[in-house]
Amino acid sequence: MKILFLDQSGKPGGAELCLIDIAKPYRDSCLVGLFADGSFRNLLEENHIPVEILTTQAIQVRKESSLAQGLGSLGQLIPLITKVVQTARKFDLIYANTQKALVVGALASFFSRRPLVYHLHDILSSEHFSQTNRRIAVTSANRFASLVIANSQASQTAFVAAGGRPEITEVVYNGFDPKIYQSHESGVSQIRQQLGLDGKFVVGHFSRLAPWKGQHILIEALAQCPLDVTGILVGDALFGEQEYVQHLHQQVTALGLEHRVKFLGFRSDIPLLMAACDLVAHTSTAPEPFGRVIVEAMLCGRPVVAAKAGGAIELVEHGVNGFLVTPGKPDELAQVLITCLKEPEKTGAIAHNAQHTASQRFDVTAINQQIAMLLNKL
Ligand code: UDP
Repeated sequence: MKILFLDQSGKPGGAELCLIDIAKPYRDSCLVGLFADGSFRNLLEENHIPVEILTTQAIQVRKESSLAQGLGSLGQLIPLITKVVQTARKFDLIYANTQKALVVGALASFFSRRPLVYHLHDILSSEHFSQTNRRIAVTSANRFASLVIANSQASQTAFVAAGGRPEITEVVYNGFDPKIYQSHESGVSQIRQQLGLDGKFVVGHFSRLAPWKGQHILIEALAQCPLDVTGILVGDALFGEQEYVQHLHQQVTALGLEHRVKFLGFRSDIPLLMAACDLVAHTSTAPEPFGRVIVEAMLCGRPVVAAKAGGAIELVEHGVNGFLVTPGKPDELAQVLITCLKEPEKTGAIAHNAQHTASQRFDVTAINQQIAMLLNKL
């Protein structure tokens, strides 16, 4: 099957990393069309997935945009839509991986008469998107998509609550290759040494720096933990959240945590860094659509504590394969961190259990088969 994948981002967030795994089996006959250039293109090329930058002009619509702003950007989209229509004629199917890709893909699907699939990686709620954005996404999907693949039940439920047609939706979780998450002991001790983490209880946070990802909650929790508990914040501000980054640095200084919190920026060696942690914390303050980092921590055999909302609840069963805490509550998080520090055997057993079940439940080969079956039905 010849698939034209569309994604608006030049930077590799969770949706983009998931797309790499989905596009891989189709790499001999697919194209990934991007609406921005950046390091995501390099990642696709490294994976031998054909990629083309379809526009370099930034689309001026943001998650909180109003109707007027949305309509204003339509004129700007015409050359891009024209190009996507022409390109789509060479493919059997259009697969939109992000919201702006959905809007462009919907019109291209109409003009090129190609079926449209929308992979929904978002929770379409007021916490994440303006009413206009939600309406545009739901209307485009309802009217033009033959299939909406939701990355969790939480994303599916929010889509339906926002007016989406339930009968076109299917839930498919992200897939992972468990082998990638196995690290050698020597590499792990080397990186711990390099980062000055020897002898510390290391709590890792792996996410782009953005207010709703809640890095500030972890920093506050760390201040309530014993002095040997250290945090590493892995990730960068991908979408212009520089003010928040400044705020985080100020918070660290104000709490006197300069020696206990390390900002590592965006990294490509996530499995090794996760393996170097004693625990991985996920602290989103708004419901997480899926939460790749939660599954990745499990596959690395590291205990994970996640904010109890959205997709995270579908991934973590408290006390069985991880821990859940109320979102936005640093005190509660600190208690879990301290318990894990004091009870390594019990926590280790939970992490071991999580590794075993996650490697079966999220196996990328099985997930890709699930997607192939859905696409073949169209
Ligand atoms: N990630 C990464 N480098 C970083 C920080 C994060 O490669 O420095 C990856 C992380 O391993 C995960 C993805 O980015 O696979 C984030 O996905 P998630 O679903 O957790 O959040 P999203 O970005 O989709 O909101």
